[in-house]
Amino acid sequence: MEKTTGKVAGIISNLVTVHVDGPVAQNEICYITVGSSRLMAEVIKVNGENASVQVYESTRGLKVGAEVVFEGHMLEVALGPGLLSNNYDGLQNNLATMKGVFLERGEYTSPIDMEKEWEFTPLAKPGDTVVAADWLGEVKEGWLPHKIMVPFSFKGEYKVKSIKESGKYKASETIALLTDAKGEEHAVTMVQRWPVKVAVGGYREKPRPNRIMETGVRCIDTYNPIAEGGTGFIPGPFGCGKTVLQHAIAKQGEADVIIMAACGERANEVVEIFAEFPELIDPRTGRSLMERTTIVCNTSNMPVAAREASVYTAMTIGEYYRAMGLKVLLLADSTSRWAQALREMSNRMEELPGADAFPVDLSAIISGFYARAGIVELNNGKTGSVTFIGTVSPAGGNLKEPVTESTKKAARCFYALSQNRADRKRYPAVDPIDSYSKYLEYPEIIEYLNNRMDKDWVESVNKAKNITLRGKEAFEQINILGDDGVPMEYHLQYWKSELIDFIILQQDAFDTIDCNTPMERQKYMLKKVLEVCDKQVEFDNFEECTAYYKNIINIMRQMNYSPFESEEFNKYLGQLNKIIENDN
Ligand code: ADP
Ligand code: MG
Repeated sequence: MEKTTGKVAGIISNLVTVHVDGPVAQNEICYITVGSSRLMAEVIKVNGENASVQVYESTRGLKVGAEVVFEGHMLEVALGPGLLSNNYDGLQNNLATMKGVFLERGEYTSPIDMEKEWEFTPLAKPGDTVVAADWLGEVKEGWLPHKIMVPFSFKGEYKVKSIKESGKYKASETIALLTDAKGEEHAVTMVQRWPVKVAVGGYREKPRPNRIMETGVRCIDTYNPIAEGGTGFIPGPFGCGKTVLQHAIAKQGEADVIIMAACGERANEVVEIFAEFPELIDPRTGRSLMERTTIVCNTSNMPVAAREASVYTAMTIGEYYRAMGLKVLLLADSTSRWAQALREMSNRMEELPGADAFPVDLSAIISGFYARAGIVELNNGKTGSVTFIGTVSPAGGNLKEPVTESTKKAARCFYALSQNRADRKRYPAVDPIDSYSKYLEYPEIIEYLNNRMDKDWVESVNKAKNITLRGKEAFEQINILGDDGVPMEYHLQYWKSELIDFIILQQDAFDTIDCNTPMERQKYMLKKVLEVCDKQVEFDNFEECTAYYKNIINIMRQMNYSPFESEEFNKYLGQLNKIIENDN
């Protein structure tokens, strides 16, 4: 097919107007010639014979009249074995193969090593009927089974004409020949391409989430659990612990594959991720967590369209692994940078701005993105999932700004980090009153939790939340009226909520034991804490009440820092039981 070409007619920073000689499509990719390099750009508006394109790189030195060639497809990623343990930028340039963090202008690296050989095992045989996303074979990517699938772009039914036997093959080799309904043959390799802004299909159904994804973080799992295939977001001002919390979830979350979209404010934040992530040890394998992680990063000194693309690139890679029947955890830190990229683009286009100059359809864009997460039932009956958690960094911690508000509509879990809690070193600073998980209202999740934990688990959780709420009210009264100015009941309420705060909600991400609490242990501790709260104790004065609960908090904190049911743990448990039993 003849490619459409054009000539540069106008340039404003990265926004270039191109006079075209044929049809071009919205979001189509084109290349602009500058000297000896070619700059990648994306069509963001078409108006008659003029197309506005957003260049992914610096347009320094670009001249009116420069040649443009349109590629006939949208921004795509390459999907195949070898994506894990790699770092990419938003255009899927492999950052390991470049010098320093940034590429030379016009330089694009191959995301996948096409020469690498993989040990292939066929899963289909000649004569089989297959459709897009069906599994043709398997290779081992590290210790994970990586499925080689019928390309997602294939439409309708195909017959397997031939397929390679077990053996070692290069990523670029044809591993199967498929025949379409018209009898035409299509060669399939281990690598396929997919446009990042289009959700990957190829599954039978996308049911409602029906089980939770364990994270080992108590304020999430116990208080506001996130479903497998669910969505959540973490808004919080700078320094409140967004990154620490996301890394804990990445490390401990019940997932096979982790995709980290790092949208940094400054390059050094992204460099931090490269330094920190490879250091993280996978609690499951005892090896580097990077083995089952892909990082897609961008920084604010990368061109705006590349920044905008990065979250889509990360999501597409996530969907690819989901289609293999794996549990994918996708994290984006912070999605505010992505929204800012959207804002810059829309402003340069001189579009009518919405609130705070964000695009008018910001909400729809964010919702559309979050909607790509989910648990899916594949054509072969297996399930796969993408669970998505993004952070938002609202300027000045203002939760009424458009990105936070739009994300609130899209995500089902809200983990609001509070400056006040962070200032008091109450980590994770997730506000127990403002935060919520809508999954706790899903009948299938309630049933799942009550089956997995305890028959009245969700009721217990709500009881604990109620204590937290009443404790806050009591705290406010005590603050105004003074310790002696309120009835004893207020002190009791306050200290019970403090007990829950210190034992269930606060959790030291840097302690090897406390950082990760399995569900069984979370169940045990909530039960124990509620047992203490239920105990009727009489006090003569508030000092006595304070001393009593402070003592219990200290003992139970020691329990949190000891291996579950160890000798040490049982020693503190003995002390605790003695106190509870000795009361009047
Ligand atoms: P943000 O990403 O919101 O800017 P960070 O995640 O970098 O904030 O956290 C800032 C600091 O807060 C960390 O360096 C750490 O000292 C502290 N912190 C955050 N969460 C915890 C936690 N769960 N346990 C202990 N310290 C924490
Ligand atoms: Mg951070």
